Amino acid sequence: MYTVTVVLHGDLDFFVRKRHGPGMLTCTFQGRRSVKDLVESLGIPHVEVNIILAEHHPVDFSYLVRAGDRLDVYPLTETPPIQDAPRLIPPFHDDARFVLDVHLRKLSRYLRLLGFDVLYDERLDDRDLAEVSTVEDRILLTRDRRLLMRSGVSRGYTVRDTHPPRQVVEVLQRFSLRDLCRPFTRCLECNGRIESMDTAARESVAAVGQIPPGVLSWCREFYRCSSCRRIYWKGSHYERLTQLAGTILSSGELYE
Ligand SMILES: [Zn+2]
Repeated sequence: MYTVTVVLHGDLDFFVRKRHGPGMLTCTFQGRRSVKDLVESLGIPHVEVNIILAEHHPVDFSYLVRAGDRLDVYPLTETPPIQDAPRLIPPFHDDARFVLDVHLRKLSRYLRLLGFDVLYDERLDDRDLAEVSTVEDRILLTRDRRLLMRSGVSRGYTVRDTHPPRQVVEVLQRFSLRDLCRPFTRCLECNGRIESMDTAARESVAAVGQIPPGVLSWCREFYRCSSCRRIYWKGSHYERLTQLAGTILSSGELYE
């Protein structure tokens, strides 16, 4: 039997508050154990951990915990006062892409509204979600921490908030995504790219009745999803979405 001290930084005590109390934990174990196993045994998915220090020195997930160690564990949003500590979360590309579990439908639409590539499909089970995340290099967003503990998942995040508009602010903040937002470039329904329609295409579509005559009488600009062919125009729905996108992007909670 041996004992270690684990210091959780940032909001990582979100995962352990009920069982252990916030901040600093004392843990007792038997046998050899990697720091990755130790962190996940506390209920913290390893994909939430960006930097680990053992006795104030950076280590990776394979580090074998020693008796008496002090382990400092940092999420993506916190940095220790040590230069060049290796990051355990892989760096993101300029086009952050997501896959969301079935409980986050509204969040999927908000992220698409802001132009992010979001895979959301209610037919995907937990195994599929983990596989898609790995194969397509998508950030897996969920409220189920156990989904993020599945082997192979290397990018993911447990959404803390339960209210969809606050969830999207939380995700933008967590991954520093505000500069990557491109509102109104993705189809809310299918994630396809939205493109402007030229006059000829517009008239042919109107001919088969996809644009109501009342809208055609005043609206000159139409857009179409390149995938599902859904038509968009700047009507009252657009006004509401514009207002919502503005609210999300100007939220005072971002980058305080
Ligand atoms: Zn579409």
